[in-house]
Amino acid sequence: MHVPLILTDFLDRAVTLYGNKTAVIDGERALTYKEVEKRVNRLSRGLRSLDIKKGDKVAYLTPNSLEMYEGFYGIYQTGAIMTSLNTRLRPDDYLFILNHSESKVLFADTELYQLVEPIRDRLESVHTIIVQGGSAEGCIDYEEWLMTFTDESFEREPLEETDIASLLYTSGTTGDPKGVLLSHRSNYLHALSTMHHLRVSDRDTLLHVLPMFHVNGWGSPFYYTANGATQVMQRKVDPKQMLERIEEHQVTIMHMAPTVLNMVLQESLHTKSTFDHPLRIVIAGSAPPPAFIRKVEEELGWEFIHVYGMTEISPLVTTSQPRENTPAEDESAYARLKAKTGYELIGTKVRVFDESGDEVPHDGKTIGEIAVRSNNVMEGYYKNPEATSATIRDGWLYTGDMAVIDEQGYMEIVDRKKDVIISGGENISSIEVEAALYDHPDIMEAAVIAVPHEKWGEVPHAVVVKRPDAELTEEDIVAFANEKLARFKIPKSFSFADELPKTASGKIQKVVLRKEFWKDKEGKMIN
Ligand code: ATP
Ligand code: MG
Repeated sequence: MHVPLILTDFLDRAVTLYGNKTAVIDGERALTYKEVEKRVNRLSRGLRSLDIKKGDKVAYLTPNSLEMYEGFYGIYQTGAIMTSLNTRLRPDDYLFILNHSESKVLFADTELYQLVEPIRDRLESVHTIIVQGGSAEGCIDYEEWLMTFTDESFEREPLEETDIASLLYTSGTTGDPKGVLLSHRSNYLHALSTMHHLRVSDRDTLLHVLPMFHVNGWGSPFYYTANGATQVMQRKVDPKQMLERIEEHQVTIMHMAPTVLNMVLQESLHTKSTFDHPLRIVIAGSAPPPAFIRKVEEELGWEFIHVYGMTEISPLVTTSQPRENTPAEDESAYARLKAKTGYELIGTKVRVFDESGDEVPHDGKTIGEIAVRSNNVMEGYYKNPEATSATIRDGWLYTGDMAVIDEQGYMEIVDRKKDVIISGGENISSIEVEAALYDHPDIMEAAVIAVPHEKWGEVPHAVVVKRPDAELTEEDIVAFANEKLARFKIPKSFSFADELPKTASGKIQKVVLRKEFWKDKEGKMIN
């Protein structure tokens, strides 16, 4: 008989097998799986009292916390849909997402609620706002409200595995954020394959650094729960506090953006503290250069796992392999292999197609667009059938990311399709040029974009943020780049900036940088 794959299974399993084990540590609070389940039951009852039913959207504007964690399961028991909001957006972004998603109830951290207050009058569907960790005028106090409901087991809404579990918005790096619909099945199967790849067990303690609003924290609330691991909440990016917590709670595993990992690395080098911990792996995406991976492994002694994914795929698609399965002659060859994004997750098929729709040869140099077929793929973009059919074609989800595949079948991201610079018929990866510039000690940040050129169509242009007080000229950079890059890849022009435009999740918005150069021209570069 068919058993639907519903995410609440994971909490049930944890309560049965690991009920008295610490599930969540959030500051001074530490709760077992049984205790968490009780709060989850109260929450589901509370949601029902607010008339939340199957298919309704419930929004969360909450940092990593016990409240955020229990929100997932509390919502799923009622059959409703979790819409987690990026905590670093502006009021107008919240207005757009809350109205577009038709969210009925909003849970917000008291401080973050201040960002919603100015747009409250214009919210079309939210009828109740519940604040956590304090109180606010016209809002319900979460903890008081929660305690008015009983914690006995809750009669769950029967669901099919194709019912939607989350409606999540993409980072908006290349345009307006899009609402991604992920089913219980897609999140469930993603969790099963990820827990296998990361070898998650009840001996693990996760430090939740990656924001849980971001694609459900890459699914961590699901697969760490299923295995009875302990989850320590990291509310803000504070490298010193993170290092302390790793030691205090004997953390074994973390997921984070490379920019955050870099802060932790700098902090640890700065304090030169030796500390005692069993941390086994740290997982990150976003194309970190091999030199960085080496530093993390050598200086911190943490094994680095590089992943590639996107919101539309729950999110992970490929991962690099553990050290023992990454054969390389020396450490630098090892780091180069790790900088590739590795091999597909179980249950995921990845292909790289050229423009005529043929698979590129596995030669490590022919570039094509990554397409994915998987049970983890989204059901579609919410209220946007055009974008859905442009993205999912013939059963493949076209990622908009360009890659090469080597002889072993390992994938390496070259660039986003929109960011590749096509100069005189050659494809130039902006990522490759940026990696070369980042090696310069006086360059803090760099973004390389295509600008129009009469003869070559496009040429690379670099926007550079120098270290304060550094005397750095265009000529210096060109001389430096000459050592590292083929001539046609060296930026033909430069501009210096104090900072680069970024999305809330810290990604550089090249579309903003390009606008100035493509003002009067047609083309993909305007976006
Ligand atoms: P939007 O779709 O709104 O423009 P976004 O694509 O940045 O925003 P996400 O779904 O958060 O939104 O990010 C997925 C994208 O991040 C991928 O399509 C890819 O371009 C980039 N990315 C993810 N992992 C890696 C990686 N390991 N190396 C290089 N790029 C990566
Ligand atoms: Mg995207």
